[in-house]
Amino acid sequence: MKIGIMGGTFDPIHLGHLATAEAVRESFSLDEIIFIPAARPPHKRGRNVADEFSRLTMTTLATQSNEFFKVSDMEMKRKGLSYTLDTMNELHEIFGQSTEIFFIIGADSLVDLQKWHAARELVDKCHFIATTRPGIDVDFSAVENFFGNVARKHIHRITTPALEISSTDIREKVRLGRSIKYLVPEVVEAYISKAGLYR
Ligand code: ATP
Ligand code: MG
Repeated sequence: MKIGIMGGTFDPIHLGHLATAEAVRESFSLDEIIFIPAARPPHKRGRNVADEFSRLTMTTLATQSNEFFKVSDMEMKRKGLSYTLDTMNELHEIFGQSTEIFFIIGADSLVDLQKWHAARELVDKCHFIATTRPGIDVDFSAVENFFGNVARKHIHRITTPALEISSTDIREKVRLGRSIKYLVPEVVEAYISKAGLYR
């Protein structure tokens, strides 16, 4: 089995996340993609992140029409800081060591990867799929210099559809009463409106 992991705050989940995950799934012939919404992330404590239930619900609604997409609340259940190392260990316990795990990581997160907890151990033990994102330039040689040879084996690069969409922009549009049609799935648009999020 080959499993892709799409982590994020998903506040809210949008078509950029979904199109990226689908492109990666096809290109790498992954059996499924598990979306894992992060628990309230410590580095985003400064601002109002929507509650966990809402983010998990929107992620579930957004992914239900794709039979290859799953959602896990494992990081929310664990509480505290969400370390990818803990997530990887938990996934290995669930799926067994023979399952290969591919963490999908956007260009803006890849530039930070070296600062992650146990970054070298992580890159040594599982695969990362580095995707592109409009407006973000990655110096890949800096990444390779830091992680060394293992980066060439375990960090894979892919060009994903250029969709200039961000959750920050969507929250701002809702706050201003502007349309978010075609940026998020209709079910998510309806949920945001009904729950009164981001106003
Ligand atoms: P925010 O603006 O609140 O930071 P975001 O749109 O960046 O939200 P996140 O939940 O922070 O979304 O992102 C989760 C993952 O999805 C990250 O790896 C990020 O790089 C990737 N990602 C988000 N939006 C896009 C996009 N439009 N295209 C490609 N990758 C994306
Ligand atoms: Mg982000």
